[in-house]
Amino acid sequence: MALVADGVSRLLIDGKLTSGGAGGFATVNPATEEVLGEAANADAADMDRAIGAARRAFDETDWSTNTELRVRCVRQLRDAMLEHVEELRDLTIADVGAPRMLTAGAQLEGPINDLSFVADTAENYEWTRDLGQASPMGIPTRRSVVREAVGVVGAITPWNFPHQINLAKLGPALAAGNTVVLKPAPDTPWVAAVLGELIAANTDIPPGVVNIVTSTDHALGAMLAKDPRVDMVSFTGSTATGRSVMADAAATIKKVFLELGGKSAFLVLDDADLAAACSVAGFSVCLHAGQGCAITTRLVVPRARYDEAVAIAARTMGSIKPGDPSKPGTICGPVISARQRDRVQSYLDLAITEGGEFACGGGRPADQPAGFFIEPTVIAGLTNEARVAREEIFGPVLTVIPHDGDDDAVRIANDSPYGLSATVYGADAERAAGVAARLRAGTVNVNGGVWYSADVPFGGYKQSGNGREMGVAGFEEYLEIKAIATAAN
Ligand code: NAD
Repeated sequence: MALVADGVSRLLIDGKLTSGGAGGFATVNPATEEVLGEAANADAADMDRAIGAARRAFDETDWSTNTELRVRCVRQLRDAMLEHVEELRDLTIADVGAPRMLTAGAQLEGPINDLSFVADTAENYEWTRDLGQASPMGIPTRRSVVREAVGVVGAITPWNFPHQINLAKLGPALAAGNTVVLKPAPDTPWVAAVLGELIAANTDIPPGVVNIVTSTDHALGAMLAKDPRVDMVSFTGSTATGRSVMADAAATIKKVFLELGGKSAFLVLDDADLAAACSVAGFSVCLHAGQGCAITTRLVVPRARYDEAVAIAARTMGSIKPGDPSKPGTICGPVISARQRDRVQSYLDLAITEGGEFACGGGRPADQPAGFFIEPTVIAGLTNEARVAREEIFGPVLTVIPHDGDDDAVRIANDSPYGLSATVYGADAERAAGVAARLRAGTVNVNGGVWYSADVPFGGYKQSGNGREMGVAGFEEYLEIKAIATAAN
């Protein structure tokens, strides 16, 4: 079976692959601006049917209680994706503009393999915990705590790492016993729609348990947040949209899980290897053209070595040429759309208006006439007060900020509305760990440690979100807690 064989992807609603009520919409290769093909464009009636199907599947089948079935189905989805992995790789590079080398990790194979962790977690989970007998208020009682699925989950996802985010919601939500309506970003519809094809053809997932609704209409996401038949909304995207999702969900007090934006800091302590640290910082901000929510986009360096740090970062980033993501050596591909490219450019223009200067980059690469490319850019000469140091740009852009010692570095890192991630580099491991402990961020890398892993919870403090994705914590987000007290006499 070839994926999206006729160049037109479909919705998955109630177990059937169908076209969209609003016709179709083009999906574009961001590296070439060529139209790849068409995706089904769902309308409100399609979303209404999808929510109805998910509700029915939750209420009327044994999906939520049949752990053996769910574990088998999650493994079937993993195996089907692995069977089609080369086809998925090409499709992901074309639909997302993802550099080929990243498809060995978070852009494809990482999240597929992480489904094993999810299935194993469900298989070995302590669904019922016996709290033993006690006599609260003098009444002998046997107590137990039962974990069970929340119900219908509305999953709303962005375009930057779509497999990672779609599967980090779908996998745990399903393994925990929920039914799901997935509304992916309109910029990357095919990487979500192919999950529908694979689920329909290769798994025993019952009709209605997974529904995949691609659409250009953002209001369909809002429908999920508002609908009383949806028990939980799991959202990844910008903080502004997350706020709107939370407000929409308030009327029905549904559970809201949010993974939002970031403006994470890379702290270089004064005993660190400055050259190594600043090169790593420059390199990492170029990965996937900086379109990663946890990328450290503020490089905070000792004031006495500021110029040196800027020069090192600029040398690294200036040597990274944005280009064809299908080539094995490319680390910086295009950004997702003309709109996103223009948004990044408007921040580059703002950096100059704010009094900053470019140590490298600053615009569109002259050698890329087509495609949504932006040059890796180092902004120097600004403080943490600048808007380009406070707002998420989501492009290959690094702002370098001076600090006056460890306390000041911690202050700068924490002086942000966000708190998603951070990095600390320092030669004295104990001192670096002490700095890491003071950071208000959900993940911290110390001297190059990697937190991205199936068993590690990921998420943010402050306006970077609430709740955690991945790890056992990410599984338990999709569970309710029920306490059962049985009179013992
Ligand atoms: P976005 O917020 O514009 O859109 C995300 C999703 O929400 C899309 O599917 C969109 O159709 C939908 N949507 C839009 N308006 C909606 C509404 N009012 N109600 C419900 N759904 C709505 O984000 P984006 O531009 O697609 O993605 C980029 C953003 O995502 C960045 O800010 C980035 O930091 C963030 N992000 C965060 C994480 C994380 O884990 N914290 C991961 C990836 C991306």
